[in-house]
Amino acid sequence: MAEIFLALGSNVGDGDKYFDQAINLLSEKLSNILQAPRYKSKAVGFTDQADFTNSAIYGETKLGPQELLKFTQSIEEKVGRIRRFRWGPREIDIDIIFYDNLIINEEDLTIPHPRFAEREFVLKPMFDIAPDFIDPTSKMTVKNLYDNLPEEDKSLKL
Ligand code: AMP
Repeated sequence: MAEIFLALGSNVGDGDKYFDQAINLLSEKLSNILQAPRYKSKAVGFTDQADFTNSAIYGETKLGPQELLKFTQSIEEKVGRIRRFRWGPREIDIDIIFYDNLIINEEDLTIPHPRFAEREFVLKPMFDIAPDFIDPTSKMTVKNLYDNLPEEDKSLKL
C-alpha cells in the first residue's frame, strides 16, 4: 500500500459539503484516511472572489500514481458537476502532494506537487496530520517546511 497525501481546495460557497462528498468517494480506494482540519484562506491573484476552504488528507492505496490521478480527476468531475455552470468557479480541486517518497516528473503528473512548500494552505493542514513526513525533494519534514514559511505569509483561519 502506498501512503499518499492530497490537498483539497474549494472556492465555491459550501466547501464543507464538497469536501464531504469528495472524501466519501475517495474512501472507495483509500483506507486509513486521516482528515486535517478545514481552513479558510483569502484568494490570491484574483482577490475579488470568495474565500477558499482548504484541507489535506492522508490515505493508503493500491492505486499507482497515474491511476490515483485519474481517480482524483474523476471525483473532481463528479463533485463539480453538481452545480456546475459553464465557466463557473470550481467546486473542488484535488492535488496529489506526496505519493510515498516518489519523485515523479511526467507530462501530466508532478509529485511532489509544484510549489506546495510555499503554500501555507497546503502545508498547515499537512502539518496537522503528518508533521514528520519527509518531503523527498528537500529531505525536510513537513514541520520544518511549515516553520520555514515567513510569518507574514501565515494567515489561515479555522
Ligand atoms: P488544476 O486545474 O490546478 O487542478 O490542474 C490540473 C492539471 O494538473 C491536470 O492536467 C493534471 O494532469 C496536472 N497535475 C500535475 N501534477 C499534478 C498533481 N501532483 N496533482 C494533481 N494534478 C496534477
